Amino acid sequence: MKRRLLFLGPPGAGKGTQAQRLAADRGLLHLSTGDLLRAEVAAGSDLGKQAEAVMARGELVSDALVLAIVRSRLEGQPEDGGWLLDGFPRNLAQAEALAELLEDLGQPIELVVLMELEDGVLIQRLLSRGRTDDNEAVIRHRLEVYREQTAPLIRYYRDRGLLAGVAADGTMEEVAANIAAMLA
Ligand code: ADP
Repeated sequence: MKRRLLFLGPPGAGKGTQAQRLAADRGLLHLSTGDLLRAEVAAGSDLGKQAEAVMARGELVSDALVLAIVRSRLEGQPEDGGWLLDGFPRNLAQAEALAELLEDLGQPIELVVLMELEDGVLIQRLLSRGRTDDNEAVIRHRLEVYREQTAPLIRYYRDRGLLAGVAADGTMEEVAANIAAMLA
């Protein structure tokens, strides 16, 4: 069974929900850079203060900052522990930095799960979620940032033979089953 996973897809596709569930089921470390950044903001740390305004605008916080967060968490992981990255990497520079880090750790990615959903559905889902960065203007901007900066990762991981697409428009149960089928 594959235990080093990356979840990719637009905001609102349900990455967080599915990632949390899968990680709990299989005893994987769930690393969501969005959740970790929100925790820093809530704690009022220096890092949180740097990230807060950027996140509120729907832009990406600096590569160095998120990379430091991910590195510190992955370095402590036992080799056979397994992990699930959610919301990271979000651009090519982060993907390259991650590849280097994982090579150092001797823990390569085994599968990239791409969750796919139409924009109309994404926007409706995000609007009903009610997070502070979930108003319509910011959502549209996050989708734009996704298309410009994150979507190129689809090709990057496909070229490396790691990508598996999953339809994310079913119920939570259906999507979970689609994902499980990919991991067998
Ligand atoms: P969503 O999937 O709904 O966009 P996330 O929780 O993944 O939400 O991310 C929320 C915000 O946190 C992003 O809009 C961005 O500002 C910041 N963020 C999260 N992960 C990263 C990352 N890897 N690089 C840069 N910024 C990030």
